[in-house]
Amino acid sequence: MQHLLLAFTLIISVSATAQKAVFIIADGIPADVLENNNLPTLKSIAAAGTYTRAFVGGEKGSYSESPTISAVGYNSLLTGTWVNKHNVPDNAIRTPNYSYPTIFRLMKEQLPAKKTAIFSTWTDNRTKLVEGDPTMGAGSIVIHADGFELDTLHFPHDKNSDYISKIDDTVSTAAALSIRTDAPDLSWVYLEYTDDMGHRYGDSREQQDALFKLDNQVKKIWEAIQYRQKKFREEWLIIITTDHGRDAKSGKHHGGQSDRERSTWIICNQPFNTYAERFTPGIVDITPTLIHYFNISMHLPQLYEADGISLLGKTSVAAPHAFFYQGKIDVSWKRIDTTGKVFIYISPTNEFAKGKEDVYTRKAEATAKTLSCTLDVTDMPSGMYKIVIEGKYNTVNYWVYTEEQKKK
Ligand SMILES: [Zn+2]
Repeated sequence: MQHLLLAFTLIISVSATAQKAVFIIADGIPADVLENNNLPTLKSIAAAGTYTRAFVGGEKGSYSESPTISAVGYNSLLTGTWVNKHNVPDNAIRTPNYSYPTIFRLMKEQLPAKKTAIFSTWTDNRTKLVEGDPTMGAGSIVIHADGFELDTLHFPHDKNSDYISKIDDTVSTAAALSIRTDAPDLSWVYLEYTDDMGHRYGDSREQQDALFKLDNQVKKIWEAIQYRQKKFREEWLIIITTDHGRDAKSGKHHGGQSDRERSTWIICNQPFNTYAERFTPGIVDITPTLIHYFNISMHLPQLYEADGISLLGKTSVAAPHAFFYQGKIDVSWKRIDTTGKVFIYISPTNEFAKGKEDVYTRKAEATAKTLSCTLDVTDMPSGMYKIVIEGKYNTVNYWVYTEEQKKK
């Protein structure tokens, strides 16, 4: 029997398919611009899986409202949280709150043997957002191709940003080659030229040309992935998205909360789940998707801060909301898979943001049909509460500021 078991284990381990993933951020492409251009590679990837509209910017007018600015969006993707948590409100990336782990740190902590890679037209993405976290440190992303924008000898800066287009070419070529030869388990590719053309020309022929260049760059990466899938026992997930839209008037600007600036898109080579069909996904949903794909988990205190929901697999709850009135908090949510109960937890502190832990109290439980509850919090006076709604397959959270300390 033992021999049989051993043989069985061997077969399992030999035939196990390696899971690999690549996510690409193409900078500053509003959903309508993407949809109005017939981009062959992006179209073919979407045809194999999913195209969906998505959003950035957090909840408009609420505590999680986030500027529609590049690095804000990247860090929302990486940490699965909005700016009120990750604390990167602009491109200066001065003081990210590393209490909220990036997908790269979760990979390093839980799957240390996995190879991670960053191919980027902007070096800060690796050095500040990912390796700036002291639990990561310089050199923790072993495979990388970046720093070209600092190399003015080989990429002399010109007024038309042609050098950025050349860097995007170099970066995407490096990514494709690395995928073919090293097959990193998790790769982040960042390409910038589409945003430069948007800033310079707005909605224009030049922006369209930049989109077709982007499509060709993604093609190299997609072909490398298809090569790996044919030649090796590997499953590849590719997710392509953008970090923000642009203003409706000229298409030159972004940063605000208009519909077009908040409106983005996600393309994936795998079909998304019921949650993604019923709700508009956010950029914060991508890290939970990768967590699901790699079958890793967050520690409970980290999970209680996650603002996103996986776009793959089963999910239980979404669309959390809560408000405070006269010593009570009214909590509501939506159900997706209705299996199992829902538990409501509350914490009157935010120690997590300081690298410590909060104490949560279970205040209520609900069955499949219940979509709201009222919590009496007169016994725990506070200026701010964190509410966690925990379902069988996922957990969502919402913060409440009481009237005295109301925060935008
Ligand atoms: Zn951007």
